Amino acid sequence: MNAINKMTNHFYFGGCDTIELAKKYGTPLYVMNEEHINERCQEIRDDFLNKYENTKAVYASKAFLTMKMCKIIEREGLGIDVVSGGELYTAIKADFPMEKIIFHGNNKTLDEIEIAVKNNVGRIVVDNLYELELLNSVAQAFGKNVEILFRITPGVDSHTHKYISTGQVDSKFGIPLKGDIINEAVKKAMDLSNIMLMGFHFHVGSQLFDHSSHIKAVKILVKLMDDMKKKTGFVTRELNTGGGFGIYYKKGDEPKPLTYFTDAIMETIIDECKTYGLLIPLVIIEPGRWIVGEAGITLYTVGAIKEIPDVRTYVGVDGGIPDNPRPALYGAKYDVVVANKMDQEKDEVVTIAGKCCESGDILRYDLEVPKLHSGDILAFKSTGAYNYSMSSNYNKIPRPAVVMVCNGEDQLMVRRETYEDLLKNEL
Ligand SMILES: *Cc1c(COP(=O)(O)O)cnc(C)c1O
Repeated sequence: MNAINKMTNHFYFGGCDTIELAKKYGTPLYVMNEEHINERCQEIRDDFLNKYENTKAVYASKAFLTMKMCKIIEREGLGIDVVSGGELYTAIKADFPMEKIIFHGNNKTLDEIEIAVKNNVGRIVVDNLYELELLNSVAQAFGKNVEILFRITPGVDSHTHKYISTGQVDSKFGIPLKGDIINEAVKKAMDLSNIMLMGFHFHVGSQLFDHSSHIKAVKILVKLMDDMKKKTGFVTRELNTGGGFGIYYKKGDEPKPLTYFTDAIMETIIDECKTYGLLIPLVIIEPGRWIVGEAGITLYTVGAIKEIPDVRTYVGVDGGIPDNPRPALYGAKYDVVVANKMDQEKDEVVTIAGKCCESGDILRYDLEVPKLHSGDILAFKSTGAYNYSMSSNYNKIPRPAVVMVCNGEDQLMVRRETYEDLLKNEL
């Protein structure tokens, strides 16, 4: 899949010569390998859905979303998580089955709730009591019953960057377990005319290599199920355990197989439910990054090379923060190859600089490379998740195109933005 061609010494991705892709579509360029996405979905089916009964897997689409991606996920038999009206609109336009959509968000607007209810979205994950009331009144107005889960803040710290840690007590996400809030929320949901509470949801964080926070959170949630049953009579039918499974970005990363997380989650749920004498609920997982992260690369062209004697060498590329804000946002580090010099000895160390007017726009510090020249093509690996979806037009830079590759074939999925696109909303 990722290979060097001995004849050209070019980097191949999804069976395609990345240098040819750069020539054909220009750079910066996002390249997504469909085969890799298919393999990941297959693994979810084999190792989770077919291994355990009464389970569902839902793709967290904020990682990477286009209508074509919705089609792939539909074909692969998964559901889709959305967190905004725009993500939902994308799925609607792709004719994605609405009963397989889960709608998240810590501050859904009235408008978004209306679109979700009108389109019969399968589950709404309610974050707070304000939203619960709002949702009930919208459902009443549309004459519908909506099935919901409550998002719970389990109060566990996950070992990841603080910006992608979401399960700790001090979090903007979900209903805290401190005090009596959840008790009141469950009672209220049971009373409301157009709401059907199905169970609970948690998501502890992202890019995790350790299943301990999932296990802790599951234990807390099953205890909550027991508590709620005793206090309110509510019987939990669904437990959504979120995503967060880590992927390979850089040397030293040792991602675990899917089963390291899913087996632990299932075993803990089964054990804990047995202990409390509870029915085992339907279990849902929501991987995002794990499905698409390693399926993507970004190609850049080297421009200006600036050597500051005894300090460092800056290699300027034609992208940066607008196509990949993660290095500036989280200090994220990526593996990089020089796609046209795969055979050459790496005997220099350089820093890859983006083209934005920010000193922080550095895509990669201290990268070992062969001698670079303007015009060389760099491939940043594992950019399939949270790159295209986090892209912006900062410095009025048009967004790159997205090309889908599969077994040596390439197809344009999203065209490159133009300068006219940048002005199209201006009056
Ligand atoms: C972001 C998110 C996910 C997916 O996270 P990954 O780390 O990409 O797997 C799953 N569920 C919820 C609620 C999320 O917000």
